[in-house]
Amino acid sequence: MNATATLPSPEQMYQAIVDRDVEMEGIFIVAVKTTGIFCRPGCKAKTPNRENVEFFASTDEALAAGYRPCKRCRPLERAGSVPVWLTPLFEQMESAPSRRWTNADLQSLGLSPIRVRRWFQEHYRMTFHAYLRTRRIGLAVDGLQSGDDVLSVALDHGFQSLSGFRESLRKWTGHTPTDAKHKDPILVERVLTPLGPMLAAGNDAGLCLLEFVDRKMLPKQFERISKLFSQPILPGSHPVLAETARQLEEYFQGKRKTFDLPLRMDGTPFQSAVWQQLREIPFGETRSYQQLAVKVGKPTASRAVGRTNGDNRLAIVVPCHRVVRSDGHLCGYAGGLWRKKRLLQLEQATSSAGQLALPLDIDE
Ligand SMILES: [Zn+2]
Repeated sequence: MNATATLPSPEQMYQAIVDRDVEMEGIFIVAVKTTGIFCRPGCKAKTPNRENVEFFASTDEALAAGYRPCKRCRPLERAGSVPVWLTPLFEQMESAPSRRWTNADLQSLGLSPIRVRRWFQEHYRMTFHAYLRTRRIGLAVDGLQSGDDVLSVALDHGFQSLSGFRESLRKWTGHTPTDAKHKDPILVERVLTPLGPMLAAGNDAGLCLLEFVDRKMLPKQFERISKLFSQPILPGSHPVLAETARQLEEYFQGKRKTFDLPLRMDGTPFQSAVWQQLREIPFGETRSYQQLAVKVGKPTASRAVGRTNGDNRLAIVVPCHRVVRSDGHLCGYAGGLWRKKRLLQLEQATSSAGQLALPLDIDE
């Protein structure tokens, strides 16, 4: 399928560059006809006039159209991945994860502390020090679970006191060291998609969250799922998250119609019934709230079905985007209506079932 089919509307994209919206990173590329240069949506350079811009789904398309990459925002460095200039820092953080970093340390690696801070803020929505702290906490929880005592774990991971460690652990995971020791943490990772970054969370028990990031603070998201599952949440990777990323990539390439992942759909019996029905709506098709209500045996409960649809925590894999109003119009989607529209368009384009008479009017 054509990659541009997943782009937001030109108005939304222009607004994003006016707002220097880094949430749109990786979703589109903006090129300026008058300068021949292309940029990321969040570029700090002067905002070009509306009539001079052209949008592309990828840097390849912008290059093919004869544009050159901006020297300021470096659009060829993949959004969300570690840029070349930061690799020495990541290598050192990997080999000594508990190390504390001063400005002088960063400067000795030839890095500008301001630039490093800005990068972490833009890419992780947290300060460089908060990032280091969550990494240290993740490793400390591993230590606790492999049976090390709390004090040596705290000291080994760069915490200066037991109380400081307890406080950090409670702040980031909502748990005491004893809880953390006995509870399998949920790991959270960013997954990049053509519709923007998503947060995926899970552990051996399965995938429990998959949502578009969309301006929400990372720590807030952590808090919510930590409370729900009563397990500590930590940034980190897990095979179930890697598999989710792989299957999502195939889905967006039009090579996958169903997801084969262990899912945690904990909810009330009504919620579970609705979410289960969502999973049975075939790829490329849609159902109305009313049809879904009938399916769960509560034909008068289409409003409650709508709410439960909106409470779905597993975007895309539990396809709440396939539910539309009875007249076929789209309506609310937590990830944004434009994403719902693009997901349905992508499925229509991919579907071998062929023609679908689906009006894709935006109706908020
Ligand atoms: Zn730029």
